[in-house]
Amino acid sequence: MSKYPNDRIEIVPKANADPNAAAEWKVKCLDCPGKVRKNPEETLSGFEVHLKNRNHRRAVDARLSGKPQPAVV
Ligand SMILES: [Zn+2]
Repeated sequence: MSKYPNDRIEIVPKANADPNAAAEWKVKCLDCPGKVRKNPEETLSGFEVHLKNRNHRRAVDARLSGKPQPAVV
């Protein structure tokens, strides 16, 4: 997102068992492992809330500063 050039997020199509069902997406924050938004109504606009989150900003700042990140399994 151009608004948040330093943030790394990934939009992932959700596997759907029913081919006729509406496509669903989830948004993953690559800086905060485990933070995934699944509710489609809460994807990008809702995710902005996360991008303003203090813990998220700390994770981004840590990455930008080149400090080692906690191991991600
Ligand atoms: Zn985050």
